[in-house]
Amino acid sequence: MTSSGAGVCITFDDNYVYQWHGAKDIFKEYGARATFFVGGFHSLSEHQRWTLRDLQWHGHEIGYHTLSHPKASDFLKQFSVQDYIDREIVPGLALMKNYNLQPTAFCYPFSDRNESLDRALLHHFQILRWGSADAKLWFCPPFGNRVVCAGNIDLAVNPERSMEQIQSELHQAKDENSVVIYYAHRIGERGIPYLVLDKMCQMAKDIGLQFHTISELAASLTNEPSVTDAMTDSSHSVIF
Ligand SMILES: [Zn+2]
Repeated sequence: MTSSGAGVCITFDDNYVYQWHGAKDIFKEYGARATFFVGGFHSLSEHQRWTLRDLQWHGHEIGYHTLSHPKASDFLKQFSVQDYIDREIVPGLALMKNYNLQPTAFCYPFSDRNESLDRALLHHFQILRWGSADAKLWFCPPFGNRVVCAGNIDLAVNPERSMEQIQSELHQAKDENSVVIYYAHRIGERGIPYLVLDKMCQMAKDIGLQFHTISELAASLTNEPSVTDAMTDSSHSVIF
C-alpha cells in the first residue's frame, strides 16, 4: 500500500454506457475507480441515464463531453467561445443535474482544444482533459492539475499501442511518483477488451498504484477542489 499518490487515471469517452457498466465488477475487484466522459446526454434513454447514475453510485466519476461532439476549431470558425458554452455546456449540465450528475471534469471531443476555450471551460469545470500520441504528456503530478493529457488504450483497434507499453508506463508512474492518464472509448472487442482492462487493473494494483478519478487530480494539497491555480508540492500526500 502506498501513500505517495503515484497512480493511474482511467477514463472513457462518448456514450458506451452499457459496455462501461459491464466492467463494473472488474473495477470492483481491484478497488479501481474510473471516469466516464459522457457525450450527448440529451440523446440517451432514461435507462442509460440511470445506468450512469449507478456507475457514479459505485464510486466512479461521470465527466462531461459536450452535447453534439463538435470539433472545437470548426465550431469556432462560425461561432464564439460564449456560443460554445451556451450551446454545448450549459444545457447539458442542467439536464444532468436532474439525475444527480454534476460533472466537474470536461473532455474535449477530438482532443481539439485552445487556450481561450480552456479559460472559459475552467469557469464550469475543475479539470479539462484532452489526448495525444506523445507519451511524455500523459504523466502529471497527483495534485493541482487543471488541464491534463491522456494516452489511448483502445488496444483492440489501436495497433500503435500494446500491453507491454502500458506495463512500462505504469512502472514509470510508480518510479516518478506521478499519475499516468489513459483514455478509451468502447470496452470490448472494438475498444479495450474486458480481459485487457482486467489485466491492466491487476498490474496497477500489483505495482501499488492508486486509482484516481480525474477530478481528484485537480485537488489542492488540502484536498479541496482547486478553483484557482494552486502551487503544489507533490512531496506532501493526501489520502483520498
Ligand atoms: Zn468523443
